[in-house]
Amino acid sequence: MRAWQQRVVAVLGAIAFASGAQGYYHFVRYRTRTAPYTPILEKFDLAALNNQTVPYFIADRGPQQMLPNDSFGSLISQIRLAASVWSDVPGSDLSLDFGGLTGPNTQHNSPAIEVVFEELPPGVFGYGGPEDTGVIKESPSGPFVAIQKSKVVLSNNFSQTATWSESFFLTVTHEFGHALGLQHSMTSSVMSTRITRATTKAAPLAIDDVVGLRLLYGRASLAAGSGSIAGWVRMGNTGVRLASVVAISLDGRAISTLTHPDGSYRIDGVPAGASYFVYAHPLPPAIVGEAYNAGVIPPVDADGRPLPVETSFEASVYPGTKDFSRASAVVVEAGRVTDNINFSVNRRPAPAVFGVETFSFPGQVAVKPAHLSPTSTRSFIVASGYGLSPAAAVSVLGGSAAIPQGGVRPYPQDPRFVQMDFQFNLAAGEGARHLSFAADGDLYVLPSAFRLTRRGPPQIMSAVPTLDGNGARTVVISGQNLAADTRILFDGLPVVQRFDEASGVIFVTPPPGVAGHRVTVTALNTDGQSNLFLQAGAPPAVELDGGEAAAITVTTGSVPAGVETAVEILGTNAQFNPAYLKLALGSSGITVTRMWVPGPNRILANVVTAGNALPGPVTATVLNGLRVLTQPSGLTIGPMNSRQSYFRGQVTDVGSGREGVAPGGLATVRLNGPVTESPASALRVTVADKTATVVSFSGGVLVFRVPVDVTGSAAIVRMTANGDPVLPIAMGIEGGGATEANIQ
Ligand SMILES: [Zn+2]
Repeated sequence: MRAWQQRVVAVLGAIAFASGAQGYYHFVRYRTRTAPYTPILEKFDLAALNNQTVPYFIADRGPQQMLPNDSFGSLISQIRLAASVWSDVPGSDLSLDFGGLTGPNTQHNSPAIEVVFEELPPGVFGYGGPEDTGVIKESPSGPFVAIQKSKVVLSNNFSQTATWSESFFLTVTHEFGHALGLQHSMTSSVMSTRITRATTKAAPLAIDDVVGLRLLYGRASLAAGSGSIAGWVRMGNTGVRLASVVAISLDGRAISTLTHPDGSYRIDGVPAGASYFVYAHPLPPAIVGEAYNAGVIPPVDADGRPLPVETSFEASVYPGTKDFSRASAVVVEAGRVTDNINFSVNRRPAPAVFGVETFSFPGQVAVKPAHLSPTSTRSFIVASGYGLSPAAAVSVLGGSAAIPQGGVRPYPQDPRFVQMDFQFNLAAGEGARHLSFAADGDLYVLPSAFRLTRRGPPQIMSAVPTLDGNGARTVVISGQNLAADTRILFDGLPVVQRFDEASGVIFVTPPPGVAGHRVTVTALNTDGQSNLFLQAGAPPAVELDGGEAAAITVTTGSVPAGVETAVEILGTNAQFNPAYLKLALGSSGITVTRMWVPGPNRILANVVTAGNALPGPVTATVLNGLRVLTQPSGLTIGPMNSRQSYFRGQVTDVGSGREGVAPGGLATVRLNGPVTESPASALRVTVADKTATVVSFSGGVLVFRVPVDVTGSAAIVRMTANGDPVLPIAMGIEGGGATEANIQ
């Protein structure tokens, strides 16, 4: 729809230039133009998704230009890593799954996200958001607008951007957030724009991102652990429209929302059992490239008309001060609304300070976001922002750190920046810390202005490929500040790793690589720091086994819509590694439910096709570590055929009920279609082309004995009824030898 296309353009402008920051906020519609205002949010309909999973498809052409040592496989690994961040949000039922590579103009009959590469204006790295949305749907939890398709648009020019960089990863994560229904945040979360965003590859989400997603896709049971803060913001007798109201805790949290057009607000999902300071402030002015204040698309009424934003007022901390030492903390209790947290604000044309960004110096190069260790000698940050000068009165919220007298001054190396020195309370815990800036009678708060850490960033001194005692390939990684909580990435791939406590060394089972390509090795610590803080100029890299030129062939020619069946993929020189393998079939209408790797050049998978799957050819994609293997038109989705019989669900062991049946064991599986009318005597069943004994068949449930001479970790079950073929299914063979890969 036209209005939403315009909106995507607006989001684009915001990426590059916006000043960052209000709290979680969604794409909002109201049914009315007057109070009471009940927000209707845009989101994917969990009930319309297969397994509550929205697939994302990546344009098969990839970007036009990449850095010399970068590759499409590396890029895909980073996109998958960013998507997994949103899948892993605790308390959200929504998952994202790589659906494959697609050609231009691929149509989808089910909800989906498209990742495409386009020419973008200078300084813009991406944009994203819902593109196709439907009418308002009713649900038990209230009305919502179902997203049919969202887009993540990335630059087609990576000649200046390494795919392993922190900034690229955070950009993709941010755009996926838009695609799922989140707008810009002013809490220094990943949904904040680049200036104030304070999350990292090691700790990509802030609580505001988590709560924002939970409110769209959360489980009702989680409400038990959270409460709400509500009230209004008024100037005189008039409600202030789209004021940002932020609840901030001294241990580093910041959660917020925007007021409704009548000035009322309610922040839901606030973790209970803690106390919060609450402040209200205007969305910062739109700056170059922004169509709206802070790049936030205003809510619309029933006719699609945007509701205007009020920004001409001073910030205020509850209960009506600009000084946090005079503020009252608000206690949030589980399942309760703390109401009447109200603000009467004064008129002011524009904020005195906004859009402040901060840097720290763990080494000689500035790092953003700022991280400080109380034991470090370089205990200062430098900052710049609109209206910020050394004349500002800057304070740390809470007692973990303080700025001494004279500790706010021009940065000697570049007086355009303001330096702030800190003294630390050594008993203070780790985590984000907030700063307040008082200037010209106004107040500005920067949540997560810096992060306190116990140790410095990790550093990788060497990454050496070798063979372990059993002759298996391994990469030995040693360095500083590597610990049991350190996660290693090879480009964007999380690796199979083992930390050796005694030596402080990490052993990695390497994924399949690409000949001539050196993977960038990244170490991520749970305190938010990565080795890229110190090593971004020359990150450690290692060349992995590239293998020979490989290809894949899907031997299953066609699969009808509305069935379940097996798909077989054969490789040539593929050396499939089950620990690093992903199969995707390029359509939202076809879902891989199980996958096995019975041999280094063979994949068996069970798939489900939706009844409304679009007929036609699809591209099969196998990601084998960093290798990308595709077969365009490798598989064809055929029309639905109600006379087609097929197996339903997975084959299980009669005794244990588990999947995977030993040779000679009894197996059971359900069937669908006309075959269910056949007597057991009409059935012929084979497992890996060996005849299996049919034990019983009634009510559509088949019991058969697996032939004793079946080998391998998986096999195809074929069946006919009076000569009519049933679609085949794959099953796991217990104790069959080779490795089994789980669905990722
Ligand atoms: Zn954005």
